Amino acid sequence: MKELRVDNISKIYDKAEIIGNISFCVPEGSVFAIVGPSGSGKTTLLRLLCGLDHLSSGAIYYDDKDITSLPPKDRKFTMVFQDAALFPHLTVVDNITYGLKPLGYTDQLIDKKVKEYSELLSIQNLLERYPSSLSAGEKQRVGIARAFIREPELILLDEPFSNLDVLLKEELKKDLIAIHKKSKQTMIIVTHDQNEALNLADEIMVLNKGKLVELNSPQELYENPQNLFTAQFIGVPQMNLYLMKRTSPTSFSLLGEEFEVKKDLPESFYVGIRPEDIKVVKNGTSCGRIVDVRQFNDRYLIDAIYEEEMVSFYSETIGELNTEVYYHINKDKIHIFDVKTYKKIPIT
Ligand code: ADP
Ligand code: MG
Repeated sequence: MKELRVDNISKIYDKAEIIGNISFCVPEGSVFAIVGPSGSGKTTLLRLLCGLDHLSSGAIYYDDKDITSLPPKDRKFTMVFQDAALFPHLTVVDNITYGLKPLGYTDQLIDKKVKEYSELLSIQNLLERYPSSLSAGEKQRVGIARAFIREPELILLDEPFSNLDVLLKEELKKDLIAIHKKSKQTMIIVTHDQNEALNLADEIMVLNKGKLVELNSPQELYENPQNLFTAQFIGVPQMNLYLMKRTSPTSFSLLGEEFEVKKDLPESFYVGIRPEDIKVVKNGTSCGRIVDVRQFNDRYLIDAIYEEEMVSFYSETIGELNTEVYYHINKDKIHIFDVKTYKKIPIT
């Protein structure tokens, strides 16, 4: 297995630690997503992986070889930059095939690959055009085709969907999935949009302020976040979050319901509840006043207020503003986090 192994790497710029002691592995053939807010170090991390920047400390291994000091051209990686960075004086086809001949590709092979990748990325009709006549989304596709046509063992994509509208985003996502299915190349995709990561990746690394917050499968990150930051960052609409005080060592009350847990709680803590873990019921013990209703796919997302607290959940039927709605919280699905460390507190 040609695994990428990143061992305790750091990057310091002007005394500021931009990447701090990060370790992870990317298995061969997998799709690995890096998510985090703007400025969290995602682009820096990609540049370090493909050798465009030097590490301040740590090491990178690929296929069990130490590649830490290898220049970018000697790594079997290609990076697709956020702005595609095409040569303005070359046509699309010349951009895509630039530098292939010196690598020993024959004209025949180049033609075959241009056909294959331009079809996969739906850019067949753009081949003779110049970059200045392309939309941002088309440029992005050309940049991706240029990277994939080289068939590197590992491909790094920096926010490939950031310039695209919703429809184009969905199309490109499908194209990338199709290419990956076909080529089985290892892909590392950076995004600040966690929905993209949830859709595409085998594993997701959550980055914040240059630190690895959590690394897990999309499902685990969503259903069982180990950290408050992950809980807030992953999931649209966001998890409902409350800063709480316990009413006894093992209980607290929230949104009109009493919660009893199996382990002792600290004096104060955060409680997280996903909107889908709260159900609208006909009659119940807790009810809130509806303050907002939005269509959300085939359901409605309701914001209600119980005393001072706001709570969001789904409803099959449209609710009327300022009316009362009964709800029931699935108590097995709540998440509790430490106020200082943000780490999950086990309660079962
Ligand atoms: P992201 O891609 O997650 O938005 P970046 O990796 O671009 O984040 O940047 C992370 C932090 O590193 C930012 O605060 C940025 O200002 C800083 N940074 C990036 N490159 C340099 C550089 N060459 N010199 C100094 N600081 C930099
Ligand atoms: Mg970036």
